[in-house]
Amino acid sequence: MREAINIKNLSYMYSEDTRALESVNMTVHEGERIAIVGPNGAGKTTLLLHLNGILHGTDGQVEVFGKSVDKVKREEIIKDIGLVFQDPDDQLFMPTIFDDLAFGPINLGLKEDEVRKRVEKALLTLGLSGYENRCPHHLSYGEKKKASLAAVMSMEPRILVLDEPTANLDPRSRAELIEIIKGLNEREGITIVTATHDVNAVPTLADRVYV
Ligand code: ADP
Repeated sequence: MREAINIKNLSYMYSEDTRALESVNMTVHEGERIAIVGPNGAGKTTLLLHLNGILHGTDGQVEVFGKSVDKVKREEIIKDIGLVFQDPDDQLFMPTIFDDLAFGPINLGLKEDEVRKRVEKALLTLGLSGYENRCPHHLSYGEKKKASLAAVMSMEPRILVLDEPTANLDPRSRAELIEIIKGLNEREGITIVTATHDVNAVPTLADRVYV
């Protein structure tokens, strides 16, 4: 199976006394579902931020589909790998849901028709059809979580990276989101990397676990 992500000896220090990652190694194959588990402060978010080039390692390297994240333009990386932040308010910043979902595809330079098609598909996948003109700030937390995943899906990434997708959701929204993520892997073959401390979600969301 082809390697989707390969992390070699990755270390990262926020400052002299905050060593967030130390010699981390991880391999994810295309189509796999991987969970990264660990307590608060273990470095999960820091690791995920390296996958799409938001952070660059103090040492070591990160490759996505064989290309070093440090050497490729960020626009290239985000075509392959979509990162859903833990807090949906970090992802949704436009006046309407349509604008939030269209933002990425427009920045890829796609034509209006294609942008509209992608937005509609992402909304359908997340069960949010009809939400186009809604204001993100007026949605429930569960709806915001789905909208933030839809905003990433409109980029049609081959790898989906999720930071604590089930945190702060009620049981019904949590179950719904887990099923959607599972379906994206099963139906579309999307590689899934999930950082979570929701250990009960791990058997459904992961084939392998990194601790
Ligand atoms: P997790 O996602 O597993 O809870 P984080 O990656 O958020 O862990 O944090 C790892 C460590 O890095 C913690 O000690 C945290 O305090 C520190 N850290 C995270 N973000 C920053 C930041 N922006 N500046 C300084 N230290 C940070």
